[in-house]
Amino acid sequence: MNLQSEISDIKGVGEKYKKNLSKINIKTIEDLLLHIPYRYDDLSNIKNISDLFEGETATVIGEVLKIDNIYTRYGKRLTKAVIKDNSGKLDLIWFNQHYIKNSLQIGTKISVSGRAEFDKNKFKYISPNWEVVKNGQTIHTTGIVPVYNLTEGISQKWIRMKIKEVLDVIIIDEILPKYIIDENKLLSRPNAFDKIHFPKNLNEVEDSRRTLSFEEMIFLHLRGIKLKKDWQKKVNGHKIEFAKNKLEEFIKNLPFTLTKSQLSVIDEILEDLKSDVPMNRLLQGDVGSGKTVVAAAAIAAAATHNSIYLAPTQILAKQTYAFLKSILSHTNIQLKLITSDTKDISNLDELSSTLIVGTHSILFNLEKFKNIGLIIIDEQHKFGVHQRSKIVEYYTNEKTPNLLTMTATPIPRSLALTFYGDLKLSEINELPKNRLPIKTWLVNENKRMSGYNWINEQIETNNTQVYVVCPFIEESEVENLLNVKSATKEFQKINKYFPNCSIGLLHGKLKANEKDEVLKKFKDGKTNILVTTPVIEVGIDIPNANIILIETPERFGLASLHQLRGRVGRSKDQGYCILLPSTTSPNSIKRLKYLETIHNGNRLAELDMQNRGPGDIYGAKQHGFADLKVADITDIDSIKKTKIISETLFNDLDKYPEIKAKLDRIIHIRDN
Ligand code: ADP
Ligand code: MG
Repeated sequence: MNLQSEISDIKGVGEKYKKNLSKINIKTIEDLLLHIPYRYDDLSNIKNISDLFEGETATVIGEVLKIDNIYTRYGKRLTKAVIKDNSGKLDLIWFNQHYIKNSLQIGTKISVSGRAEFDKNKFKYISPNWEVVKNGQTIHTTGIVPVYNLTEGISQKWIRMKIKEVLDVIIIDEILPKYIIDENKLLSRPNAFDKIHFPKNLNEVEDSRRTLSFEEMIFLHLRGIKLKKDWQKKVNGHKIEFAKNKLEEFIKNLPFTLTKSQLSVIDEILEDLKSDVPMNRLLQGDVGSGKTVVAAAAIAAAATHNSIYLAPTQILAKQTYAFLKSILSHTNIQLKLITSDTKDISNLDELSSTLIVGTHSILFNLEKFKNIGLIIIDEQHKFGVHQRSKIVEYYTNEKTPNLLTMTATPIPRSLALTFYGDLKLSEINELPKNRLPIKTWLVNENKRMSGYNWINEQIETNNTQVYVVCPFIEESEVENLLNVKSATKEFQKINKYFPNCSIGLLHGKLKANEKDEVLKKFKDGKTNILVTTPVIEVGIDIPNANIILIETPERFGLASLHQLRGRVGRSKDQGYCILLPSTTSPNSIKRLKYLETIHNGNRLAELDMQNRGPGDIYGAKQHGFADLKVADITDIDSIKKTKIISETLFNDLDKYPEIKAKLDRIIHIRDN
């Protein structure tokens, strides 16, 4: 057995366990050993029975003297046992666990951990944890005991036991070079795996965590470096000889002036387009910072070839198509919209100077589109890494086009550079000049009616349009039935409170054409209020909608809320965001209050990280952070340190075949 062995190589792990374990992403032995405890219970208080005192939690080791199953008068099922050690006797009581009697013969030596209660002159433990002492060893009831995240069908005891069994037999080889281990005072690898699960004290937990996280970060960096190097070997089949005057004309004809940030990103893109290496760039920019225009500039510059613009949803594809069509109208670029509705996508190979806008269904037809010089992936956090690698894969034997990936998901720069080590990074870090920060108010439930009245007034006097984001029931990227139900309920409620308004309802379970219709009505100003689920399409751009009311905002991270409120304030008019929490918890309120004063997506993402932990960073799952098993992505110092180490290491890879093999494995897994 080695780290790569299948989990079913462990004795007693059959199909059922295999299936359950896969739900918590455990497929190999390595996955199991990297399923690290989320906390540890300190059960190191081991006592003689006669030394126990009332109320203390302690572990006692003794022999079973008596054990009986009992039915009480009220139909309860008890198991009562007595154990003794050299100093005295202790009563044990369990409820509804008659099976225990079968597992414990008289005379068996067991270890029990529980809370000592004094009753009728004797001590007793109610529902204690227990285990049979085997070869003088215990793992569940003494010392620092690991506690794991579980899933249905997997118990703490079971997983602890399996991990222990594996650690007892497996031979784990060192993988990092000795100089790295020494210089950074890391534990040996086998030691680190042992101690993360069964430490003697909490210092050992820290050391082993640091060691394993070091390894994880190093491989993350190595992966980035490798992908980047591989990419640099590609030759740009579509080096763009762009016409400077065309781009200038495009910019001149825009209905607004570009921000400094937009201009400098356009410059960076042009440099890439001219280079022999195809572009592979990530453009980060807050909601409303104007990424689409930047993409359009790139398309204009690349007009000697065809381009593809991938939007995450049909609605956004259509909206972006309309927007690009209007701002590219002064150029000779032809536009084609391709969504899953589009049946006929033949004959596109004859085109030139064409921009194809569509959803990811395009990815399954890449062979139909020839002479592609530029591919833009919008809102990449929704698309995920997989789509990008699908493109890369397709073009392995083709001329590689330039790739521009865009995201509004704010992640700190150092993280972006780690996770997207293979990409160059551009940022738009300012909003267009005329934009006013969105006035954000946290409103107490008992002010709900005055909030509604104010909204009504705004609709009547300014003809403002309003989004109402319905209560959020379950977190999920795709729409689920609970959220749809909640939206429908909210819709009825809003109808009651705003009898004179026309109200629309948008959720993910509507058919594509129904969605289109709802949005079109809203866009054309025929509906005043749009009730929507939180899955409201990220990039929706309806400049006349200036108020957004968000129910149960406490269920969102700050950065997600920032994204949501970015639906309003998209013109020179003042935008408003009203947050109506359904909690009064001081912590939640304090957290939400940040939105009133902070208008920077990055800053809010950092606050999320501090307040709710990395798992809750907006889009964390999509960015693949959730794949991290040990490393703490907020530990910027270690990220930097391991980056430097990885760069040196990468140049020496031939000396370390195990590292090379693992790296290949990682790249293979992540990209498939
Ligand atoms: P995002 O970065 O969220 O994708 P968009 O590209 O959708 O943002 O732009 C948001 C809105 O801002 C659009 O209506 C766009 O026309 C407008 N816009 C973009 N750049 C500027 C600018 N420099 N000045 C004024 N408005 C702009
Ligand atoms: Mg956008």
